[in-house]
Amino acid sequence: MDDRAYIKSHIRTVPDWPEPGVQFRDITPLLQSPKVFRVLIDQFVHRYFDTRPDVIAGLDARGFIIGSVLAYELNIGFVPIRKKGKLPFTTVEETYELEYGSATVELHTDAVKAGDKVVLIDDLIATGGTMMAGKRLLERLGAQVIEGAAIVELPELKGAEKLRASGLPLFTLVSFE
Ligand code: IMP
Repeated sequence: MDDRAYIKSHIRTVPDWPEPGVQFRDITPLLQSPKVFRVLIDQFVHRYFDTRPDVIAGLDARGFIIGSVLAYELNIGFVPIRKKGKLPFTTVEETYELEYGSATVELHTDAVKAGDKVVLIDDLIATGGTMMAGKRLLERLGAQVIEGAAIVELPELKGAEKLRASGLPLFTLVSFE
């Protein structure tokens, strides 16, 4: 089995969660096994080792788990993009539409410097709204988002397609049709 198939085999599908009709892709089994966790992180380390971004920005909350380990391995800084109301210092914020209602994410105003090259990471891209909002936050501070990264993309929802069409390169490991 190649590394991506090995990673995919450790993603659990939970039917009808958090609501009926949703097939939730649960990455926690990937984190529980030290062997597959290492294979997972190494995929991202190899991807960015030569690119040498300045910063890894992680999306709340599973983006923190993989993003912080990746930043540590690359010996660069990590910044969290959080759901509204969690960051204590001055922030910029972006609101985006969900299927029902909206969500707001925030970033500390001193999280990145103008010109910083940033990789933005999350566990999964569905409609792409979360990653797009994160990109806008980073760009408002003058940073350049060189790539979006995630373990999973869901092609059916067309989020990854839209992000790529908007000019954001994406690196994902697994897709579920
Ligand atoms: P999007 O904004 O529609 O692309 O949704 C992506 C965000 O929702 C990410 O922060 C994911 O962690 C979360 N998410 C949506 N669906 C799933 C899922 O099936 N598994 C894990 N996370 C999900």
